[in-house]
Amino acid sequence: MGSLAFFIASLGFLLPLVSNANPLDKRAAALKPFNLRVTFKPAAYAVPSTIQHVQDAVACGASNGVTVTAKSGGHSYGSHGLGGEDGHLIIDMRNFSNVTVDQTAQTANIGPGGRLGNVATALYNQGKQAISHGTCPGVGVGGLTLHGGYGLSSRGRGLTLDNVLEATVVLANSTVVTASTTQNPDLFWALRGAGAAFGVVTNFKFKTFTAPENNIVFQYFFSPSSASQLATALTALQDFTRNSQPPELNMRLFLSSFTTFSGVYYGSRSDFDKIMNPLLSKMGIGSGTVSTNSWLNTLTSFSNGPLAQTGTYDTHETFFSKSLMPEYMSPEAITALSNYWNANARSNSRQWYLLFDCHGGNGSAITKVSADSTSYAHRNATFKMQFYDRVASGNYDPSWMPFLNGWVKSITDAMPSVNFGMYINYADTSLTKDEAHTHYWKDNYKKLVDVKMQYDPKRVFEGPQIVGS
Ligand SMILES: Cc1cc2nc3c(=O)[nH]c(=O)nc-3n(C[C@H](O)[C@H](O)[C@H](O)COP(=O)(O)OP(=O)(O)OC[C@H]3O[C@@H](n4cnc5c(N)ncnc54)[C@H](O)[C@@H]3O)c2cc1C
Repeated sequence: MGSLAFFIASLGFLLPLVSNANPLDKRAAALKPFNLRVTFKPAAYAVPSTIQHVQDAVACGASNGVTVTAKSGGHSYGSHGLGGEDGHLIIDMRNFSNVTVDQTAQTANIGPGGRLGNVATALYNQGKQAISHGTCPGVGVGGLTLHGGYGLSSRGRGLTLDNVLEATVVLANSTVVTASTTQNPDLFWALRGAGAAFGVVTNFKFKTFTAPENNIVFQYFFSPSSASQLATALTALQDFTRNSQPPELNMRLFLSSFTTFSGVYYGSRSDFDKIMNPLLSKMGIGSGTVSTNSWLNTLTSFSNGPLAQTGTYDTHETFFSKSLMPEYMSPEAITALSNYWNANARSNSRQWYLLFDCHGGNGSAITKVSADSTSYAHRNATFKMQFYDRVASGNYDPSWMPFLNGWVKSITDAMPSVNFGMYINYADTSLTKDEAHTHYWKDNYKKLVDVKMQYDPKRVFEGPQIVGS
């Protein structure tokens, strides 16, 4: 390790050398993951500012037998940006955060280290452009895009990865290539759903769209009083999302100690009322608020704070999470989910939630993309379900993990012959490698391993759950 540390330092981009602030503070901040439950000790930490630096860092890791991991926004639920285990060489892409729009072509070059709030603002400031992306302004473009990217324009505009035209990638052999539908198409296919295992992306070229203004932003309040009332609402929502939800309507049910049903409609208020009122009535939802918002205010409505991410990023939570990507939940599965909520979740005083993003179905741009055109394996998932259990302060006691594990099991046990997909962007640290591969990538996993062998046969890019691990 001595030679590795020396090599990184000699490149001049070891973290303390680029910092004006107290180097120790800056180093501690870099090593502090979003999820404080899951911390790791890297072997070395590089903060490149040129592609050559990235190439040198990858070569350094490869020649010293140290596994290499790229980090962008550091928001992985399993702290995969810190390697997901001790001992990796981390390449922190924070300096690759430029956003440059070609307004005529409606394309943008975006660095993976940009955080979503800053990227959205920069796109808007260059000809009112936008891309489809997630809601949290601190999330990095890199991890989000390389593994999915669902947000409040996805039903009309697809996932973030559906809007990538090409990516610039430093490979395991430290060469730089372009990946697109015409250049290295297998790599391009793999990057869009499983990117962490294939290289370090230094730039994405996206297609953009003109941001819609006058958007209908809604939030309704819902207080199910029994398991059967929750089951009725979920059955109605599932049926609507699969069969009738139009691409202009994006929404989610947030089940917690308080429950909300919220989203955005890109259209007129009268059309919104016509579409939404029958659904609300079937779900048993009454009161709420509906307002008309500009594009940036629409994003802010769901961002839990300002879009601008300035200074040293220092937002963290302590939590365990899981996901399910069901194409369909049978009445038995919905009953099991609702009974578990009634018996175990309602009485749980931790800050748990279960989020149902209305992801797929006949009207969703995500589902319309053919299943084999990217490695993202969940095109037909009706809901993107995120189970989250957090503590406001202190440590998360591992003895609490059965709460969410049991909830997921109650649902999957009700449909034993189905492989419920799971979303690596909501990484579940309790999965074994095999479980992770099976649920994150389903039928695409075999081809992903083939592409991995082609581009990274020595497994320079490794991690506890990524392809080839
Ligand atoms: C508060 C919060 C809100 C979220 N909201 C949403 C949402 O609305 N929609 C949604 O879809 N997801 C959402 N997510 C999940 C988020 O998309 C993932 O956690 C995502 O992987 C984070 O990306 P990152 O770059 O910030 O993380 P990192 O931890 O830096 O990276 C995540 C993974 O991507 C790899 N990676 C990162 N950059 C590169 C690169 N340049 N080249 C190669 N590999 C790279 C890392 O090695 C790691 O495996 C949210 C997460 C949080 C914490």
